[in-house]
This record gives sequence, C-alpha cells and structure tokens, in this order.
Amino acid sequence: MAKSFYLETFGCQMNVVDSERIVATLHDLDYQQVDNPEQSDLILLNTCSVRDKAERKVYGHLNRFKALKQENPRLIIGVGGCVAQQEGEKILKKLPFVDLVFGTHNVHRLAELVGEVAVRRGQQLATEFLDRETRLRLFPRRAAGSGIARFVTVMQGCDNFCTYCVVPLVRGREISRPCDEVLDEVRALAGQGVKEITLIGQNVNSYNRQEATAPDFAGLLQQVHAIEGIERIRFVTSHPRDLSDPLIDSFASLEKLCPQLHLPVQSGSDPILTAMNRGYTVADYLGKVERLRAVRPDIRLSSDVIVGFPGETQEDADASLALVREIGYADIYLFLYSPRPGTAAAALVDDTPAAVKQARFEAILAAQKENSQRIWGADVGQILPILVEGPSRRNGEESLFGRSPWNRIVNFRGDPQLIGSIVPVKIIRNNTNTQFGTIL
Ligand code: SF4
Repeated sequence: MAKSFYLETFGCQMNVVDSERIVATLHDLDYQQVDNPEQSDLILLNTCSVRDKAERKVYGHLNRFKALKQENPRLIIGVGGCVAQQEGEKILKKLPFVDLVFGTHNVHRLAELVGEVAVRRGQQLATEFLDRETRLRLFPRRAAGSGIARFVTVMQGCDNFCTYCVVPLVRGREISRPCDEVLDEVRALAGQGVKEITLIGQNVNSYNRQEATAPDFAGLLQQVHAIEGIERIRFVTSHPRDLSDPLIDSFASLEKLCPQLHLPVQSGSDPILTAMNRGYTVADYLGKVERLRAVRPDIRLSSDVIVGFPGETQEDADASLALVREIGYADIYLFLYSPRPGTAAAALVDDTPAAVKQARFEAILAAQKENSQRIWGADVGQILPILVEGPSRRNGEESLFGRSPWNRIVNFRGDPQLIGSIVPVKIIRNNTNTQFGTIL
C-alpha cells in the first residue's frame, strides 16, 4: 500500500522551492501527499527561523504530533529548513519523538535519511554546510509554482550579515546559479507556455558578485528579457546597497520588467541602519528611489521595516514613520524586532518596553494603511492589463484571477480560455490585498 506524507511549509519562497524538492523526492519513494497529519506515515515541517514566533510555532506544531507518534510508533516525524539548520541536534534532544532533522544544505539527503529511520537506525541528523562546488551541483533546478507564473531561483545564501538576520547563519554563503542554466530553464518554461518569471534569491542584486567575467544581475535580466514567450519579469529580494545604476536603468529599457520593486529599507534612521550593518544611509536610499521613479514613473515600491531594534529611540522611530510617509510605499511588511540566536544584534541591550514598541508599530501601520488605500484605491476606474493566471477560488466557476503589472491579484468574471493571456480589465473595487474588475 502506498505510504503517505504530510508536509507543512513555513517562511519564504526559498522554502517553497525546497518543499517542491521534498515533494518530488517523496513521490519518487512512492509516498502520496495527504492534507491531514493523522492520515500520514511521515510528517515533515519545512521551517522558518526569521522571527522568534516562527521558531516557537515549530515546537508547538511538533508537540502536537507527539500523540500521533504514541498511537503509531512507526510514524516518522522530521524537521527541515532554517529552524532545523539553526537548532540541529537540540531538536532531537528536546523532542526525542522526532526522528530526523535535515538542514538547508541537505534537502538532497532526505530519501537516504527517511530510509535510515524506516529501517530503525535511530534518529538522523544532517545539518552540515556544503562547499560551494557541491551546492552548485545540487542547486534546485525546478521552477517553483505551477501554471503560467513561475519562480526561478538564481542564487542562495547571503553574505551581508545584517546584524538582526539569521539567514546567513542558516542558509550559508551566497552562491549564484550559472547564467546559462537559468536561461535554459526560462526557455524551457517559455516552451511550456509560462508567461511570467520571478527571479528569486535572498539578495538577487548581488548575483555573480564573486564572478568578474560572468553577467551581473542587470546582465542576467537583459538575457531573460530576450527570451521569446516570456511577457513579464519580476525579481525578489533586493538589497538597496546593491541596487546598481544599470539595474535601475533596466526599469526603463526592459519593457517586460514589471514596474514594481520590493526594496527593504528596515529603518528610516541612520544610526539604526549602521547598527543593523545595512551599508547605506537614508539619503542613499532616497537617492535610489528618486532615480527609480525618474526612469520608471509608474513604479510601485514595497518594503520591510523593523520596529524596536535594540537602542531605537523615539527619534529613530519617528524617522522611520517619516520615511514611510515620504516614500509612499504601496505596501510594507512591518515587523517587531525579535532577537535571533547567533546574530550580532542578539547581544545588544534591548530595554525598550514592549508597549512603547507596539505604539511605534501601530503608528507606522496606520501611516502605511493610508498609503496603500491611496495608491491601490487610485486603480478603481482604471483599465489595467491583467495577466490571467487561473480560476479564482473566491467567486465560483466563471471567475478568474490574474495580476496587474504591480503584482496585485485581480478577480473578474471571464472565460477560462483566457488563461495565459493579458487582457484589459476595468478595476471596480479595491480590497485590502486584492481587486475586483470587469473584463473589457
Ligand atoms: S540582506 Fe541582510 S536581511 Fe537580507 S537575507 Fe541577507 S543578511 Fe538577511
């Protein structure tokens, strides 16, 4: 009888890519995926450790599965991803009912590890970091997602060591996937009818930073842009310091490059940016935003902002609030600082009361709400080119969903034959995260 597995994925697109590799591996082992842990022979959590809450969630989830293991001792329970990489053996010690822990560089060993556990060779641990050549050889070569809009990984890891961030510690050093391989994959996807490509990495702007002769990210974008069949290109995530002039100019010269950019600023205060080791000042950042808007006036920006970084004064928080207002982001992801194990900032004194941090958080949230309502609200009455991605789960059969050039989901009634094409849709209503329209 086919065995079954239950997989839960937390965190970023990089984890989504790894989970697709996990699913492919388990399918090759004749495991069927199920939606309910109670019905599975193997439970896996692909975890995220970017915030304290994420980690606690993982332990909470694992404890939920303890009872299942008592009912079925042959049940295999495993943890992958960034918490696995960060905590490693501690998880096996803390939770003896967990059978395997595999880190971010060891997804390729899953079949072997499950095999070892299945033949009762005890708990398995694989969290060693691999060398550059091995990582390039094992680089994920499958585009994530399904349908006409796909994610293509171009690099892994990060060398920036922002003082609050655990990514360099759990994902390792930056490696860039050879340009030819990326182009081959995008061509193959175009051949399958894919219309939109999002190039992903922790910091795509530093693509091939170590390779003097290989194309940089602006160069890669240009070559992806030349591929027949691809109609829209996006990329995420960008580090402002590495946003080069040629990359900014790409927004003017590459018409398939969508007018939206996620550009995490993290803080509006120079002393805090220094303490975060971000490598730019507010003036540098504003200069890049100005240039972006000069070359592509319809560009919409989103960002990440951290509130409550150790040592943050009211003046620093007010500076972040002022910056959010000044730039007028379409969206921001706002986070309360949480100390991450092993990061430089975790050693800093953090004596700002939680209530004060919360008040600063609320103030920025309110300002951003105004920005978003103003910016997305202005689409109402406009006719936008929407790339139709598929049937919409919200409004029954005839409904479709697609994305605007600014990556907003738009729902509208239409014929499923339209999937894969770009159609004019008049926006009639704007909601918090989606829009509704009528096809013209
Ligand atoms: S750029 Fe900074 S915040 Fe982003 S992944 Fe790298 S270390 Fe983390």
